[in-house]
Order: sequence, then structure tokens, then C-alpha cells
Amino acid sequence: MSKRPHTYRIGAAEITRVTEQTFAIDAARLFPDLDPAVLHAHASWLVPEHADPALTSAQLSVHTWVVRLDGRVILVDTACGNDKDRPFGAVFHRLNTPYLERLAAVGVQPEDVDLVLITHLHVDHVGWNTRLVDGQWTPTFPNARYVFGAAERAFYATPAAANRMMVFEDSVLPVIRAGLADEVADEGGAYLPGIRFLPTPGHSVGHMSIEIASEGHRALFWGDVVHHPIQVSTPSWSSSFCADPIQATASRRRILGYAADHDATVFSSHFAGASAGRVHRDERGGFEWRFI
Ligand SMILES: [Zn+2]
Repeated sequence: MSKRPHTYRIGAAEITRVTEQTFAIDAARLFPDLDPAVLHAHASWLVPEHADPALTSAQLSVHTWVVRLDGRVILVDTACGNDKDRPFGAVFHRLNTPYLERLAAVGVQPEDVDLVLITHLHVDHVGWNTRLVDGQWTPTFPNARYVFGAAERAFYATPAAANRMMVFEDSVLPVIRAGLADEVADEGGAYLPGIRFLPTPGHSVGHMSIEIASEGHRALFWGDVVHHPIQVSTPSWSSSFCADPIQATASRRRILGYAADHDATVFSSHFAGASAGRVHRDERGGFEWRFI
């Protein structure tokens, strides 16, 4: 049994990571613009948690952030889920992970969850929205509001989504049909006092970063604007999974500046290791990541 995960305190919010899985991906496949020399220059802190010693593969994590604030239990993104057919990706396909047991280990039963905040409707962010009960995809968190960008939902009505429809049908549609979904307008804004959606499109059409503020402190969940910590140093590197790499880069630069200038603590979607940290401006006009 691994040790109990660390809980961060941001104002009155308590934030804990619940990990579904970690895996390695070929670095050149993840980043089409990869420059191996840049990885070598950062090897001292990338190896071994974030890259292999040869710097040819990147380590990624898939997880949910559990936030407790003002008596509410909030989940940010819901990983890949169990039992789901994902012929397009072996690391997502028909998983059987003890994710719900890990949630229980940090004191969260499915009925306890009040809000499920979702950065975007990709396969590795919506999976535990539902689970298989008597052959039906059923909302996992029956008392929660599931909140996501309207443009993300609208994307699934377009031909571009054709090979992703199974994700929508098994993990998003059931929560909409159950009347549990709330959509955030494209311009973002406050969902509840202290909970704000910040538009960061590019990785996906309606991608949102999510900020939870408490007592003057900010927790920032920037989703897949940044997949790997090396991108804080190389914001022009979009991932091969970004729908619009140029727009994704613009969003990345903007949210990096926002995080640095607002002293936000960032809770990343896919960084291995601690996953949480801060962004600092460096003297060359760029950014630097520091894990906390
Ligand atoms: Zn992702």
C-alpha cells in the first residue's frame, strides 16, 4: 500500500491528488517540435521522474485533484475510467484500476462529491464521470453538478469528433441525460464565488483552465495547456494532441504569465512526480517551473 497522498493547503482549500495511472510516452511523439538539446540542458531535474535517463521518453500521470472547500467536495477532471472501449489508445482501453478505492482512501465516497469541474472533454479527463452499472453507463457521482465548457460539448456535434464519439456517448451524454451537467459560456467566468473558468483554447476547442480562490490564495488547474514541465521552459512546444498548436501556444504563454503574476499554485493534469508547483519569470523573459 502506498503512503497516503500529500494534501496541499491553498487558503482554506485542501487539495489532494488521486492518481489513476502513470505511463511513459515517446518524447518525440509527444512533442513534434522537440529539440533533444533542450531536454539535455534540463536533464538534472527531468531525470528520472519526468524523463528516462536517455531523454527519449516522457513520464506522464493521469489523475484527479480532490478539493475540499467550504464544506464542498470538488473533483477536477476524472481520468480515464474503467471498462471503456478505447481502440484508439492502449493506455486508455478497458482499464481496471482501483480509482474509486483510492478516492475512498482519501475519504471520498461517490455520493459525497458536490462538483465535478472538467477542463475539457478528452478521454483522460472525463472517464470516471460514469461507470458501468448493470450494463449501463451511469453517473459515478450522483449528487454532483458536472461543469464544462459549452464549446467542448458542441464540438461533439461536429464531423471532426467522429472518431471520439464513444468518449462522449459513454462518459458525457449520460450525465447530460441525468440532468447533472452545467455548461460554461465560451468567455468563461465565475461558476460559483471563488470558482472561475478561464478560457484557454487550442489543445481543444473549448478548453478551460479552472481557478479556485480562497482567502486571497489561488489554485490553478490548467488542464492540458501544459502536458509536461519542460513546456514551462519551452512554451512554443505544443503536444501532438493539441487540436490547434498555434492557439494552444498562445494560451500556454498567457496562462504561464497569469500563474506567475498572480502567484498561483498550479495543479497540473499530467506532470509526474508531485504534479504541483509554481511558475516564475526568469531574467530572459521566459518562465521557470518549480515543484512544491
Ligand atoms: Zn489530458
